[in-house]
Amino acid sequence: MAPPTFEFDFQTTGGNFTGKVAFSAGLFINNEFVESVEGSTVELVNPTDGKPLGHVSAATDKDIDIAVKAAREAFEQRWGTKLAALESLNNGKTVFVSRFVDVQGFVNTLRYYAGWADKIHGKTIEVNDAKFAYTRHEPIGVVGQIIPWNFPLGMFAWKISPALATGNTIVIKPSEWTPLTAIRVAALAKEAGFPKGVLNVVTGLGSVAGAAISSHMDIDKVAFTGSTLVGRHILKSAAASNLKKVTLELGGKSPSIIFDDADLDKAVSWAAFGIVFNHGQTCSAGSRVYVHEKIYDEFLLKFTEKLKSLKVGNPFAPDTFQGPQASETQFKRIMGYIESGKKDGATLHLGGSQHGTEGFFIEPTIFTDVKPDMKIMREEIFGPVVVVAKFSNDEEAVRLANDTLYGLAAGIFTKDISRAIDVSNKLKSGTVWINEFNKVEVTLPFGGYKQSGIGRELGEYALQNYTEVKAVHINLSATPPI
Ligand code: NAD
Ligand code: MN
Repeated sequence: MAPPTFEFDFQTTGGNFTGKVAFSAGLFINNEFVESVEGSTVELVNPTDGKPLGHVSAATDKDIDIAVKAAREAFEQRWGTKLAALESLNNGKTVFVSRFVDVQGFVNTLRYYAGWADKIHGKTIEVNDAKFAYTRHEPIGVVGQIIPWNFPLGMFAWKISPALATGNTIVIKPSEWTPLTAIRVAALAKEAGFPKGVLNVVTGLGSVAGAAISSHMDIDKVAFTGSTLVGRHILKSAAASNLKKVTLELGGKSPSIIFDDADLDKAVSWAAFGIVFNHGQTCSAGSRVYVHEKIYDEFLLKFTEKLKSLKVGNPFAPDTFQGPQASETQFKRIMGYIESGKKDGATLHLGGSQHGTEGFFIEPTIFTDVKPDMKIMREEIFGPVVVVAKFSNDEEAVRLANDTLYGLAAGIFTKDISRAIDVSNKLKSGTVWINEFNKVEVTLPFGGYKQSGIGRELGEYALQNYTEVKAVHINLSATPPI
């Protein structure tokens, strides 16, 4: 049977209200109005005249059970948890990280930029002429966005949130390796009521779909996160097509500098986190660790113990810290770098092999005795492979840290705040962490010096990537010059 309908004609109330209302007055369970199991109803009474007003459903314990079951299912199958599981399934990162870093970060980023949406404004600016002048921060238009596989949800949020908050529309391409969560989020966006055409998600190959975005004549801006190699292609094809605006978030080879006055145990933990977080597949990974010679041996001992203690295995197991690398291609690339380190004469201090026999797991790996010109010191490995080297004074530490084509991030470990600030000022790096590593904040800009990119994401700074500034002059009294 159908649930009761509540009907009322306001003509009969004797007041100013007119017209009839009629709506389902069933039990609202699972987004639907349903009749109670036993079909019973409660009669309402009009307190003005004591007459019957109509009926609504009356729930019994059976209906309460059904409603509770629906609520429980919705609670257990929170979309956040589902997204986290999907992310781990596709990328191999641990479910713990997917939930508390990726999904949480995704939500935080959307929320943060939602707050900006009604706070985008220009300025009124004084000029010498008799005029009233102001700027407007307008959306750029159609924005193409291309993202990598290492943080599929995170990069998705970093890209779409500031673009949407500033009023642009989007065509975004996830990595061909990890498109699942982006597809799910697209469905959720529709469910949430996104207007048609505002957010378009196109999965496909970089060389085909990605290239079509960067060379498109009707895309006004392209935002890219990925390798420096592909970043160059993007910049070239933007130049060769319609000179669309370009922002690039590219690779890194970020240093950690451990001074001899550092809290050693904490520095060891942060430096370890710096390299093995997300299995080393982090653009800001602390892949070069420079240690003051006085504490080098002690640091290396503790650092080695720390990396050995981390559990590598099934990303769905709660005690796993490190899951598989995201793909066989990556696995092979990383193993290739390990071979090159050995061949070039560096000392393989820890790890260096596949972990287990199936899947793409790699042991946390430390190289020592690495020369500045070796490939493993210069190139982004994007895996759990770190080089540890010595320095003897602050000046040398800065010189070694800056001896790279990249400039995404750096870490400094010291208790001396003056030294920390002095060294931080001298590092050519978009982010400097002092006594921590790999901690990104949605309110702070993130991006690279040198070949680590062009522009900044996150925080207020990212809004600039998605607005055009228009200067409007209003002549108040000047006569025409001719
Ligand atoms: P990638 O450059 O191989 O691919 C990134 C994206 O570009 C993918 O969607 C891919 O399909 C697409 N693509 C590939 N070739 C293309 C082409 N010719 N034209 C247009 N698009 C193309 O990078 P990846 O392997 O997916 O990700 C790893 C890299 O991303 C690392 O270098 C890492 O440092 C970098 N990264 C940087 C940041 C940052 O914020 N700076 C963050 C995460 C990852
Ligand atoms: Mn790649």
